[in-house]
Amino acid sequence: MRKLKYIGLAVFFLLSCNYCVSQTEYKELRERMVEDQIIARGISDSRVIKAMKKVERHLFVPESARRYAYRDGPLSIGEGQTISQPYIVACMTESLELKPGMKVLEIGTGSGYQAAILAEIVAEVYTVEIVEKLGERAKKLLVSLGYKNVHVKIGDGYEGWIEHAPYDAVIVTCAPNNIPGPLKEQLAEGGRMIIPVGGRGIQYLILNRKKNGKIRQENILPVMFVPMVNEKGERY
Ligand code: SAH
Repeated sequence: MRKLKYIGLAVFFLLSCNYCVSQTEYKELRERMVEDQIIARGISDSRVIKAMKKVERHLFVPESARRYAYRDGPLSIGEGQTISQPYIVACMTESLELKPGMKVLEIGTGSGYQAAILAEIVAEVYTVEIVEKLGERAKKLLVSLGYKNVHVKIGDGYEGWIEHAPYDAVIVTCAPNNIPGPLKEQLAEGGRMIIPVGGRGIQYLILNRKKNGKIRQENILPVMFVPMVNEKGERY
């Protein structure tokens, strides 16, 4: 009986120790990711760097893919969708020139990772996801991580989220063929929107700036995102 108790204790310590080691490993992997993939490639906004160092990306990917969470690439999150490459998340976030008091709209919640990065920097994040299962999962995870400033809605993000407009910044993480009109309208004067635009072949990340009611566009990078679709699954 006593022997059993000792074996039990040994197993318990072994397991909890394993847990400690992996937590430390994740932290190291995350720091290396930020150094090698983010800072080394020219991202310099200290708010973006701090957020990417803090948010535990491995919690946003399926358990079987956790050890790959800090790799230099996108990852599958189920339902045929992906979480973007860390550098793309950093690059898009930096392009918005976010400040602490801002209100941001995200289209394509996916895993909730990009929303968590935004929530570390700005006051309020409104995010819309069309796949119910993904939206509900992200909502639960973000609540469990203590984010009170992220609001998730299940719906078609082509329409934006009119009730909370205008937004200081808009970030779209699925690609339509053209920039949705409602998103342009819901962007505040002086605001910025970053969005991948294009079909199956080539897409470009486009930065839009609204000045005197007009939108000026700038091509940033060629990218590959999942398509923006409507509720029937048809591409926009
Ligand atoms: N930002 C996410 C990555 C999203 S992948 C993250 O950090 O994990 C793109 C997401 O856009 C997918 O989850 C997809 O379901 C969603 N999507 C596609 N069309 C959409 C639409 N019309 N409205 C809202 N979400 C959409």
